[in-house]
Amino acid sequence: MKIQFLGATTTVTGSRYLITSGNTTVLVDCGLFQGFKSLRLKNWSNFPVDPKKLDAVFLTHAHLDHSGYIPLLVKQGFRGPVYATRLTIDLCGLLLPDSGYLQEEEARLANQRGYSKHHPALPLYTADDAKRSLESFKKVPWYKPNHISRKGRGNLQFEYHPAGHLPGAASIVVQGEQASIAFSGDLGRTSDPLVRAPDPRFGADYLVVESTYGDRIHPTTDPEDQLRQVVLRTFERSGTVVIPSFAVGRAQLVLHYLLQLKRKRAIPDIPVYLNSPMAAQAKHAWSTHSAELKISREELAEIWRSVRIIGSQEESVALNEKTEPSIIVAASGMATGGRILHHLKRFAPHRQNTILFAGYQAGGTRGDLMVRGAESVKIHGEQWPIRAEVIHLDNLSAHADSNELIEWVGSLHRKHRRIFITHGDRDAAEALRKRLVNELGLEASIPEELEEFELA
Ligand SMILES: [Zn+2]
Repeated sequence: MKIQFLGATTTVTGSRYLITSGNTTVLVDCGLFQGFKSLRLKNWSNFPVDPKKLDAVFLTHAHLDHSGYIPLLVKQGFRGPVYATRLTIDLCGLLLPDSGYLQEEEARLANQRGYSKHHPALPLYTADDAKRSLESFKKVPWYKPNHISRKGRGNLQFEYHPAGHLPGAASIVVQGEQASIAFSGDLGRTSDPLVRAPDPRFGADYLVVESTYGDRIHPTTDPEDQLRQVVLRTFERSGTVVIPSFAVGRAQLVLHYLLQLKRKRAIPDIPVYLNSPMAAQAKHAWSTHSAELKISREELAEIWRSVRIIGSQEESVALNEKTEPSIIVAASGMATGGRILHHLKRFAPHRQNTILFAGYQAGGTRGDLMVRGAESVKIHGEQWPIRAEVIHLDNLSAHADSNELIEWVGSLHRKHRRIFITHGDRDAAEALRKRLVNELGLEASIPEELEEFELA
């Protein structure tokens, strides 16, 4: 049995791990590279293995840095199943076609305005490619062992366990003939008020663990109170709070806190808009799977009632005309694309407004540049000044911090022969490696891209 690291090595994006066991080859996650150009270019190079030779994909969760390459994999000849939980399948049904649509839009704008070096600029894949790839998805139940169901290839077993992070997100255990290996996926926080905590009740011989916050501990300040201060400050300036956020997950957490603050009359009753073409479907997906959440169905319905969902393009454009204070939540969370770009062009150049980032910002994304204090960012081929207040509320993050990662690894049901640390910048991965070695006495290493290891 072997593992090869095809992405997310000393970086947070492009999660893809190749497992070979006997004559079976599977890919765990199939993500897009995001952020720095050197990383994004990898999306355009040939996939390191022939997609036709892969038997299956095991998908941990719906975020694009884990799922966003699936449409291309299918386009390049992959014919096996993509295994995922029900909710992950539902969310990919929204996210992947949206990702294709946004790429088509970006290419169309670049060609129209002539700001691309490529003539013509092309999308990596289209919304139609993405829709086609959805036919490959196959539902996996929680906790139960599954087998690769191809004739004569039943030598690989796999199991999904809740990882917190995002409803539907999983850690995956893969059992081969010679050894077993577990993948943390992206791990959530035990204290998240909406999403349930990661469940570490499993074990394996080897472990691949994420390290997004491997070198950091989330502040103990109350995110609700921080949000209150930001909203009040911006309201006093008669400004708008713009919150870049994925339509499912962090957006609901922010909306939950805003609702609590309004109930306590800690902030004025200003309008809150959730601007996403996916919001209505996201609402449906969340309501259908409310058992995955910590809050009741009624509480969830209450959150949805407290916001105005902006679906159509016209309404989205009209939001930019509004002059009274409001709060606008729109994707994407790292401002890499989507409707948030139009709001940034409108609100970021003016001092009375606030741009509030709610989660991790991958290096090289507009979000990362802005939280680092960039005076301008490039949007649709032009530089736009950033004069609004830019806030990064890191403790709204959906990722476990260094202490939570150590605790999670420590409570798994088996001592691992070796831990591979991925999905984190080099400093974060190295800090986590030291803690795993020193505090838990485990053998841990940080694989390089394309590096291969025997699992015996
Ligand atoms: Zn994620």
